[in-house]
Amino acid sequence: MKSLFAPLIASLAMATTVLAAWPINDICPVDAKAARPIYRMKTADGPVAFCCMDCLTAFEKSPGKYPVKKKDAAK
Ligand SMILES: [Zn+2]
Repeated sequence: MKSLFAPLIASLAMATTVLAAWPINDICPVDAKAARPIYRMKTADGPVAFCCMDCLTAFEKSPGKYPVKKKDAAK
């Protein structure tokens, strides 16, 4: 019976990881559209989100070209 619980525990652990890796921005640094957390990449500052896979790839190639606008933490 133990094996039934393993997938549940695994999905809970994954959900926790997703929350911990929530992006530092909500605007795509490449084209200033609304970023979607499903397209994200780890950077030195934290996870950065993009609006699409193309922007993620562009950022990955030259991260210095696209400054990331962080969310306003005070709000
Ligand atoms: Zn974009």
